[in-house]
Amino acid sequence: MLNFNFMESRNDLEPVYSSRSFSPREKCGIFAVYNYRGTDNAALATYLGLMALQHRGQESAGMAFYDEKGIAHIKGMGLVEHTFSNDMLQAIKSDTVLGHVRYSTTGASYLANAQPLLARSVDQSGLALAHNGNLTNTRRLYDRLLGEGHIFHSTSDTEIMLSYLSRFKRQGLLKAVQATMGIVEGAYAAVVLDDTQMAAFRDPNGFRPLVMGRLNGAYIFASETAALDAVGANFIRDLEPGEIIVVSPDGLTSLNVCSGGREDREKTGLSLCIFEYVYFSRPDSVLDGKSVYEVRKKVGSLMAGNISHKLDLIIPSPDSGVTAAIGLAESLKLRLDWAVHRNPYLGRTFIGPSRGEREQAVRLKFNPIKTLVKGKKVAVVDDSLVRGTTARLLSGLLREAGAEEIHLLIASPPYRYPCYYGIDIPLAEDLASTNREIEQLASAIKVDSITFAGLNHLYDALGENKNNLCDACFTGNYPKLVEIRGMVS
Ligand code: SF4
Repeated sequence: MLNFNFMESRNDLEPVYSSRSFSPREKCGIFAVYNYRGTDNAALATYLGLMALQHRGQESAGMAFYDEKGIAHIKGMGLVEHTFSNDMLQAIKSDTVLGHVRYSTTGASYLANAQPLLARSVDQSGLALAHNGNLTNTRRLYDRLLGEGHIFHSTSDTEIMLSYLSRFKRQGLLKAVQATMGIVEGAYAAVVLDDTQMAAFRDPNGFRPLVMGRLNGAYIFASETAALDAVGANFIRDLEPGEIIVVSPDGLTSLNVCSGGREDREKTGLSLCIFEYVYFSRPDSVLDGKSVYEVRKKVGSLMAGNISHKLDLIIPSPDSGVTAAIGLAESLKLRLDWAVHRNPYLGRTFIGPSRGEREQAVRLKFNPIKTLVKGKKVAVVDDSLVRGTTARLLSGLLREAGAEEIHLLIASPPYRYPCYYGIDIPLAEDLASTNREIEQLASAIKVDSITFAGLNHLYDALGENKNNLCDACFTGNYPKLVEIRGMVS
């Protein structure tokens, strides 16, 4: 979700509390359980599911559930394990729980923005909403709602969506979601809970992933299949772009708000985020039927054809470059070694904004193994190059360790354009590849050469044509938003 404090300047809001503050950030993960009948409680299953999705958001965590008064929620700032104690989980007796982990777009983060967001009507009926993505007509809807007297309690675009869902909820949850999808635009995978039912829905372009599973008779909705695996749930299927699934005591109902079937949709634009495969999703997840691990490995293997330098050793950048490095080393028939040790105990280190503090943080985090790299021509493999900060500092450490040549191999194209669909990417001027030729980039990062994978490598690895994914941060070609049948904003 997007923060909509329009007065804030992003430069003032550079996040500093993050172990990945040089990287683009996914903005949310969802895990929801409906009607759980296991020996453990639904809250514990949700806790485990959220832990499996922690990489999608580390700033806050929350759960909404039923108690004797209706829908209640618990939210906190920080990691899932810091937000929920065992006593809290045991006290949640509800068989239905909606969980969320969040990363905010802008640096200041508030408990009021933590999700699920909860709306209560005067009759005490409630709605809880968890959202992954960014709305693209936020400003217009914000002004409209403000003009109608809506008082906002958060600075998150998710509240806009919740406000419309509340407005339409008398029509029933399915129709409320359908009507809301006719008004909000952009990227959303979301789950909403009312007093008896749960609805999961995905925007018509399908920017962000959402899957359904079953466990002990319960329906599970999750941002990634890895979270289903974490609780032992069976994967049933991905939600289709534009699909609404409602689960209730009467069973399951599905409706697709887009006209035409998948073939028509492929002409108008399916837009699953290609960066989910490159970086965000866990390698053990399967998105739209494709293993993230296999895709990353295949990209590494395909880009091997572009490497002309003589190399002694392939080194994965820990841990983001591992899968592509395996594919690359296999194809090039070169030795692969974990020659840079990553300290796994740093967690959410405080990283100050100054260059010196960042350098210190990287030095603390990474340490090359000198006996492996000394006198060698090494290739460092990473999944993407965003600011280039870590790559530059890593190359400095490798030179200090005695590497003779350092070649940087990036398993995706240069990252040049902002994302409006739910990923927090640094400003264009902060992106390493903006306005730089490859040689200038290599010199700025202090490596002997840089080789990027081509976009064709990504599509070949995916076995997809270019209509079926969003690749705008590489190409600047932003997908046309798909219209919803019979709906007007
Ligand atoms: S612009 Fe990039 S990060 Fe954003 S949805 Fe498209 S591919 Fe994903």
